[in-house]
Amino acid sequence: MVKYVYSFLEGNKDMKDLLGGKGANLAEMTSLGLPVPPGFTITTDACKEYLKRGEVPETLTTEVTQALRDVEREIGRRLGDPDKPLLVSVRSGAKFSMPGMMETVLNIGLNDESVQGLARMAGNDRFAWDSYRRLIQMFGKTVMDVDGDLFANALDQMKADRGTTQDTDLTADDLKELTETFKVIYRDATGEDFPQDPREQMDKATEAVFRSWNTERAAIYRRRERIPNNLGTAVNICTMVFGNMGEESGTGVAFTRDPSTGKSGVYGDFLMNAQGEDVVAGIRNTLALADLERINKPVYDELLGIMRTLETHYQDLCDIEYTIEEGKLWMLQTRVGKRTAAAAFRVATQLVDEKLITSDQAVERVTGEQLTQLMFPQFDTDSTKTLLTKGMAASPGAAVGGIAFNNEQAEAAKAQGRPCILVRRETNPDDLAGMVVAEGVLTARGGKTSHAAVVARGMGKTCVCGAEALEIDLEAGTLTVGGKVLKEGDTIAIDGSTGEVFDGDVPVSDSPVTTYLLKGLEAGLAACNGDEDMTELVTSVDRILTYCDKSAKLRVRANADNPTDAQRAVDFGASGIGLCRTEHMFLGARRPLVERAILSEAGSQERVEALAELGKLQRQDFKEMLQVLDGKPMTVRLIDPPLHEFLPDLTSLEVKVALQHERGEHNADDEKMLAAVRKLHEANPMLGLRGVRLGVWMPGLFAMQMHALVGAAAELKAAGGDPRPEIMVPLVGSNAELAIIRREAEEIIAEELEAAGVELDVPVGCMVELPRAAMIAESLAEEADFFSYGTNDLTQTTWGFSRDDCEGVFFPHYIEAGIFGVSPFESLDVHGVGRIVEEGVRRGRSAKPDMKMGVCGEHGGDPDSIHFFASVGIDYVSCSPFRVPVARLEVGRVEA
Ligand code: ADP
Ligand code: MG
Ligand code: MG
Repeated sequence: MVKYVYSFLEGNKDMKDLLGGKGANLAEMTSLGLPVPPGFTITTDACKEYLKRGEVPETLTTEVTQALRDVEREIGRRLGDPDKPLLVSVRSGAKFSMPGMMETVLNIGLNDESVQGLARMAGNDRFAWDSYRRLIQMFGKTVMDVDGDLFANALDQMKADRGTTQDTDLTADDLKELTETFKVIYRDATGEDFPQDPREQMDKATEAVFRSWNTERAAIYRRRERIPNNLGTAVNICTMVFGNMGEESGTGVAFTRDPSTGKSGVYGDFLMNAQGEDVVAGIRNTLALADLERINKPVYDELLGIMRTLETHYQDLCDIEYTIEEGKLWMLQTRVGKRTAAAAFRVATQLVDEKLITSDQAVERVTGEQLTQLMFPQFDTDSTKTLLTKGMAASPGAAVGGIAFNNEQAEAAKAQGRPCILVRRETNPDDLAGMVVAEGVLTARGGKTSHAAVVARGMGKTCVCGAEALEIDLEAGTLTVGGKVLKEGDTIAIDGSTGEVFDGDVPVSDSPVTTYLLKGLEAGLAACNGDEDMTELVTSVDRILTYCDKSAKLRVRANADNPTDAQRAVDFGASGIGLCRTEHMFLGARRPLVERAILSEAGSQERVEALAELGKLQRQDFKEMLQVLDGKPMTVRLIDPPLHEFLPDLTSLEVKVALQHERGEHNADDEKMLAAVRKLHEANPMLGLRGVRLGVWMPGLFAMQMHALVGAAAELKAAGGDPRPEIMVPLVGSNAELAIIRREAEEIIAEELEAAGVELDVPVGCMVELPRAAMIAESLAEEADFFSYGTNDLTQTTWGFSRDDCEGVFFPHYIEAGIFGVSPFESLDVHGVGRIVEEGVRRGRSAKPDMKMGVCGEHGGDPDSIHFFASVGIDYVSCSPFRVPVARLEVGRVEA
């Protein structure tokens, strides 16, 4: 027979699955000998069974009777007894704390008779009636769905009639009268009388907790937090203790350290003569924990002792809820406390210093995401701001700039050195250029997985999305919000951590953590300006990262394709460049040259000249980057995207030429271009002429790049440098493809090295980004010195969807429907794409056991994905320069 009920004397903190977090920790505190009011927990199994069958299992009912009688015997009072009533609370408690679940019902067991008994027992009429009216109110609201305002209004009305604003001014008679009013409200709303049978009260409250697992709010929360739907919630039945018995009683919450700054030393709020959530509800001004020492020194000392016991036991920051009943302290809840990113780092190193945890454990207490939060600049907290509206906090940070409605405006602003915020109804891949130059991105539509949000996060750019109050009129060039009309160039400020949008300039300050990461500990500490909290934070981050670097199982490289990004990557601690995208070097002023190369006849003098010209420029690019990387590897990917991306857009060109024809004009250049664009136009460019295919199809193109790279490296080597170039061939699907490029590469390498008179090892490898490449990895390994898994393309080619066409369109629905927990472009789909990576590693190493294998693509900066890559034997991940510190932290957290 399944056991559905556990006494607090039976469970322990590791039974969260069965007893929920609250129940497991109440049991743990009981076994630690701490003063916990007696009680028991109804398991999550009982909840699951109830939800499946629509009724309470009979054995649960009888087990509850047994457990209740045990408690009654221990306390020496009975539930509902007219003379000496036992009262209990019914408290929900799932494995993960969850908003949207039913709230706690206190004072169960009171009825028209036992309220008299309680009054006599306590020698306090006022307290008894206050407890009874609270029961009807809470029970009505949370169990029976009665509109809570009805009760609150009646209470306000009574206070108004008595000419007071304080609950505490109401007398016993007032509260007795209020209880009668509440009963009437209850009957009118539910069509029944408030139940006088205490066991019925308890059972109804229990069932309501079970049912609340399936409320829409709870379900939405679970989906967002990736909490499985089938866990169910436990229910805790706990003897009532009273913080509202008079001035010797009270209730409070406390933390063993400050959860917002991480400052060591206890911290908390409490209220005397109060019950339940009064402290957090903000109805009365709370006192600070330190004041308790003055009010009741013995209780204060006991409380501090308990907090120390709990920290020692849980080896972590704990939060607690407690009640003082006539000078006696009772513990009602504890758990390892939630904390801000700053507190996480500080507490972790404090605990190491206090010799409570090891450095390995400390690294487990922080996450890459928390480090990211510490890296974003912030708005000065004490500056005055004018709030325009609020959207979704999509990518953290603080950005200020003039409004730009499109790429042209954004690029123009950038060219003039004016910071700007790109403001769009929503973004799509066409807006990329604007996003790149903008300080931040603001959209009126779309959620946290919208294109704007995802791309901004990838770029480490501040983003607020889905600010629906924004009305953007592109024709008029205006942004209207709350009656205010703004134009291009008007300054706004967006806070990506809160979703707030402000009018005008708001001062921003750089995070000292970022200064530390870029310039080292000394500079980071100097940036703290003597602020003690900040100083301790920067020191903690340094200690933890240093430890991570030392114990790392994977290396971290960066994706960079210009000297500035390369420098930033090195400053952030990258061990090399894992992906240099050469096509990014073909944009801007060089575009005409690229056009000439593409449009000229194969083998023509014009093409040779255009390529030679490009080669010269590329050589300079590579030289500058190799100098920055001196001594560190730099993997250069030969040109990947389809050629048509370098030519004008087909539709606009067709329209342009058609208009010319209508006017009877002919422009030979435009027509030649149109013919070329038509020829190269692809219906599905993601699967078209790109990568190695381009290299094979257009001789001279890859050769030009390889000459430029090896030539630059040879020149640096001759001058005494330590260049470490690696040639990487993209989109390879067969070893014959790779063999062709490899032969060419070997000749070029030999030629360039000989010309410069130096020796240099230039590995030639390929990307694994097609499922076929992974499946033939053992034969690819014969032609490749290394592999780099391009997990972005591998995700596209494995799922068969193109990112640009899918992410902004149906991914939000897929996430809503639970098909993905998160976009597979954000976090690697380990069950599908991950298996292909694993297979590629296995096959590749079967041919070449020591073969170096990396991962480039955004997953390289994603914590969950990093842990997976480590588990399948990847040697390094490569991510955007901004993600390097996060990845350094995460690789240090990978378990040995
Ligand atoms: P939550 O999950 O919202 O923290 P709890 O079950 O902890 O809900 O209940 C909220 C508050 O109700 C507690 O902090 C405590 O003040 C009060 N409470 C719950 N059970 C009891 C009890 N047995 N005696 C006294 N107060 C209680
Ligand atoms: Mg609580
Ligand atoms: Mg690719």
